Amino acid sequence: KMFNEIQELKGNIRVFCRIRPFLTGKKETHSVIEDIGENDLVVENPSKGKDALRSFKFNKIFGPSVTQGDVYSDIQPFVRSVLDGYNVCMFAYGQTGSGKTYTMTGPSGATNENLGVNYRALNDLFRISTSRAGFTGYEIWVQMVEIYNEQVRDLLSTDDSQKSWDIDSISIQRAIGATAMNERSSRSHSVVSIHVRGKDFRSGSTLHGNLHLVDLAGSERVDRSEVTGDRLREAQHINKSLSALGDVIFALSQKSSHVPYRNSKLTQLLQNSLGGQAKTLMFVQINSDASSYSETLSTLKFAERVS
Ligand code: ADP
Ligand code: MG
Repeated sequence: KMFNEIQELKGNIRVFCRIRPFLTGKKETHSVIEDIGENDLVVENPSKGKDALRSFKFNKIFGPSVTQGDVYSDIQPFVRSVLDGYNVCMFAYGQTGSGKTYTMTGPSGATNENLGVNYRALNDLFRISTSRAGFTGYEIWVQMVEIYNEQVRDLLSTDDSQKSWDIDSISIQRAIGATAMNERSSRSHSVVSIHVRGKDFRSGSTLHGNLHLVDLAGSERVDRSEVTGDRLREAQHINKSLSALGDVIFALSQKSSHVPYRNSKLTQLLQNSLGGQAKTLMFVQINSDASSYSETLSTLKFAERVS
């Protein structure tokens, strides 16, 4: 069964759309979501009403009441396949405030109930690898980098000799939490990479798998007439790297012979885990309030192109 499951999941690009619920205490009242199905979604242009309905199809739609646990159970087979030597990348894409960090990390001060994908994946991999300890010896290590203005920074290293940390390390938890709360995090990409090496005790064969969990910079378009200097430079880097990512995933979805990995630091970093037998998952995050309609539409169009 496991084998079939993995065959089925192999080499695919999956796009899951997650709709953030309205938050209490915010002036969000009018939803542009006209209809939500298992894998399709209809949105309505608030200034044109029923005349402007658009529908989108994705692998799955997670509505506003879907819990963190529900989301994780849908992606769990992808996470677990890393222990069998697969490479998996999961991205959260969307405008700032759409719930990317909530999906990947959880809210600040998360409880067990609302922890995000990163924690659940780490716990799961650690638990399963321990349960297999009788026949496979696993080593798991974690890296965390931030890409800001096309510069890659290792968030867990304190000095150059120490590039990776043990899974139990409290530093990992701190760094993930700190990034979630860091205001700059909406303008940088953060990548948690879980590397797995397994050795089969009977045959002596080894396997390697990687899981990359990526909380992307906010996809909102910045009005060029309103920002200058550092902010403009940031916005240009974000635009460029998100479109480079879109181009890579698009090329992979088209089974194109040329995949343009070299156009951004992010796609260079993930090159070995994008394409081939690797699996790619994209959480497309949207905020359903009418005031966000134009960003929501451009997010959905980006997702439609790569799915
Ligand atoms: P982003 O990382 O895309 O900027 P956040 O993850 O920070 O967005 O989400 C913005 C706010 O909405 C946060 O306060 C977060 O806790 C809340 N939020 C996001 N998604 C959900 C959800 N599914 N359920 C409850 N609250 C959510
Ligand atoms: Mg965020």
